[in-house]
Amino acid sequence: MKKTRYIAVTGGVLSGLGKGVVTASLGYLLKAQGYKVTAIKIDPYINVDAGTMRPTEHGEVFVTADGGETDQDLGTYERFLDVALSKRNNITTGQIYQTVINKERNLEYGGKTVEVIPHIPQEIKRRIREAADISNADFVLIEIGGTVGDYQSVLFIEAVREMRLEGDEILYVHVAYLPIPKNIGEMKTKPAQHSVRELNEIGLQPDIFIGRSEKPMDEARKNKISFICNIDKKNIFSAPDLDNIYKEPLFLDSEGVTKTILDRFHLPYKKNTLTEWKKFIKKISNLEKTVSIGIVGKYFDIGDFSLEDSYISVIESIKHACWNNNANPEISWIDSKQFEKDENNLSMLDDYDAVIVPGGFGSSGVEGKINAIRYVRENNIPYLGLCYGMQLAVVEYARNVCNLKNAHTTEINPKTKHPVIDILPEQKKNIEKSDYGATMRLGEHPAKLKKETKIWKLYGKKDKISERHRHRYEMNPEYIDLMEQKGIVFSGVSPNRRLMEFMELSEHDYFVGTQAHPEFKSRPLKPAPLFDGLIKAALNIQE
Ligand code: GLN
Repeated sequence: MKKTRYIAVTGGVLSGLGKGVVTASLGYLLKAQGYKVTAIKIDPYINVDAGTMRPTEHGEVFVTADGGETDQDLGTYERFLDVALSKRNNITTGQIYQTVINKERNLEYGGKTVEVIPHIPQEIKRRIREAADISNADFVLIEIGGTVGDYQSVLFIEAVREMRLEGDEILYVHVAYLPIPKNIGEMKTKPAQHSVRELNEIGLQPDIFIGRSEKPMDEARKNKISFICNIDKKNIFSAPDLDNIYKEPLFLDSEGVTKTILDRFHLPYKKNTLTEWKKFIKKISNLEKTVSIGIVGKYFDIGDFSLEDSYISVIESIKHACWNNNANPEISWIDSKQFEKDENNLSMLDDYDAVIVPGGFGSSGVEGKINAIRYVRENNIPYLGLCYGMQLAVVEYARNVCNLKNAHTTEINPKTKHPVIDILPEQKKNIEKSDYGATMRLGEHPAKLKKETKIWKLYGKKDKISERHRHRYEMNPEYIDLMEQKGIVFSGVSPNRRLMEFMELSEHDYFVGTQAHPEFKSRPLKPAPLFDGLIKAALNIQE
């Protein structure tokens, strides 16, 4: 059997310090060295998965190919590692306790008292090793969510501590934040020192320390951390803020992190493994063109703080597509409610080269989104509708082109006379039973594409493709004929032809919608086709 090496990453001082990007970057660097790499995210919350959490609470719900509703960090890993991860790569406290309690009920503990220690860490280790097995990886990164010192992450840290004791080759990397308070103007190491001490208290000594900070750490700070935290100075690295997260692997490699990790595992370090990535970074650092993209949503309810996290895969997909077309993205958040209050506001959309209505749920701001979609359709502004964005494009077309007055989705108006978007038949019982966890239509599903359509061309003239999904509603089959007569082209349908997966308008330069979420498969060097098409159309009009 293949030897698996583990790297456990903990975080110190504060959350949101970029531990996910550091983890993903380490993964990329090892992959570039020729290894098969996977990454696991541990989330200490009780939710069994991220699917029941509001994105504004916890960031985007990232959907895996096998239909997991997972933490957004899995998206970061997928983008850096260019792999498709399994839902098994996201472990939560809820999953662990659910399994242990079910086993207990099934008498699987053979009459023993089932206790938090050792049974909970045992199940955590089993899950980590299982995720490692499925992926058959040489390296498994394990990012432990939350901050060291949190009551709820102790058992996960305990589990990775036990792994070394049980013979697993595992390296402990601690990523901590070093603040530079404005009034002092000097980088402080004390909170990071304390976070290492907290780790020591629960039995873990970090092998490698990575200091996240606004500016690079100087020698004096490195010496201090080394002395107080008992870590050899050559294992202390700096990870300052960079203007682009995709520069992180190059920075860490130049600091010597890759070599240090490989040394620790007694593996050779190969030089010049980052040529392709360096070329990519060089290209995106010198772009002359700019594309401005407006994302129309219900943003007053959210506050801008969590916006980026809630739509991270959409934002990254826009960047990838822009870079592929030698342009810088300029992304703006447009609150759809302003188009409900006053339709004159719609003319502001003329300032954008392209407009996106992303996925969403519920009634807030919906009429404003529909008004915006009408405006971009009538004014030939390139448009991409993602899931809800396609459903609302269908509603708009039904109302304003097919003359179906008050047409709607039954998600918002169950009594509408024209339910052009309706609940998927298999979803009815879930809603009746309030069975909401992991019951949407999820994960990767295939679609057959119609030859000679825009979408077929964008997908490289492939007749069958697949994208990831997360929805309960669909285009109502009863209205397909009428819509087609009136000009909507359903350019992609499910293999049984029941579900309309893609739509476009032929006369419009780019008016495209999909029931899927192509943003989950976009990669920095391989943009998602529909985003690429949107940016190309926008640049064409610019010229
Ligand atoms: N609310 C819609 C549905 O459930 C769209 C979901 C989405 O945009 N992901 O079908």
